[in-house]
Amino acid sequence: MSATRVIGVDLGGTKVLAGVVDADGKVHQTVERPTVTTSQQALLDELAETVQELPRDGVVAVGFGIPSRIDHVRGLALGAVNIPIRDVPFATEMERRLGLRVEMENDASCAAYAEFKLGAGRGTRDLLVLTLGTGVGGGVVSSGRLFRAYTELGHMVIVEDGEPCQGACSGRGHVEAYCSGTAAGKLAKRLLGPDADAHTLVEQDHPALSEIGHHLGVAIGSLVNVFGSTRVVIGGGFGIAAFDRLVPAARTAVLREALAPSGQTLEIVRAELGGEAGLVGAGLIALEGS
Ligand SMILES: [Zn+2]
Repeated sequence: MSATRVIGVDLGGTKVLAGVVDADGKVHQTVERPTVTTSQQALLDELAETVQELPRDGVVAVGFGIPSRIDHVRGLALGAVNIPIRDVPFATEMERRLGLRVEMENDASCAAYAEFKLGAGRGTRDLLVLTLGTGVGGGVVSSGRLFRAYTELGHMVIVEDGEPCQGACSGRGHVEAYCSGTAAGKLAKRLLGPDADAHTLVEQDHPALSEIGHHLGVAIGSLVNVFGSTRVVIGGGFGIAAFDRLVPAARTAVLREALAPSGQTLEIVRAELGGEAGLVGAGLIALEGS
């Protein structure tokens, strides 16, 4: 086994999770800190300090998964909803602080790549990953390669002029407004009262989950028509908890929306890697130096 190691970092809205990742994608040591959101400068400094808490033996690069659209041509992190990142040459800034090669990618793409290489996406060439949590994130692997574009799959329109989207997004009818845990929580309150949340729907096996599953299936069907995905991995806190209740309605919608025979043959499976997927994927991307 190669002694080459990297550090993978998953920058989330509330916490930073960093760990040493070896050439097989195994995580050896992790450190977690709350995310500093006071300023961009403070956040970048904190990320560097977090990385410096980990052992550097054999470490050749650092990979960051960040909740931002990435401009790979100009090397910019363009902007995030909940953290102070905007038009910043993120990799250059971090290389200056750390003295190591730095790679960056959207956090959901990192998680998708980890599932592709080591988790529920193994053995496919055309994979779609959708994480249903606070928001909806996603990643695409096409012909065996991570599709390194915005891939903001949660902001795809599935209902024209539909429900307003979340956070800083001005759109309407986006996947996130219907299929996120946050959207499910809002729906639960509307149907069951102020004490209910997304988990109440799951506990009660509530029929509203079929509606959410239908929206999810419409989104998946459209994405399959674009990317020719043969498997979709569903992750995220809400996605995992509600998986069995979402999939039957999702499958029916996929059968209608996806062009034959993709709908019939598409596999819909649970994510396998859990909370470390983003960190591992960021590490894998750093290892490959792509
Ligand atoms: Zn949106």
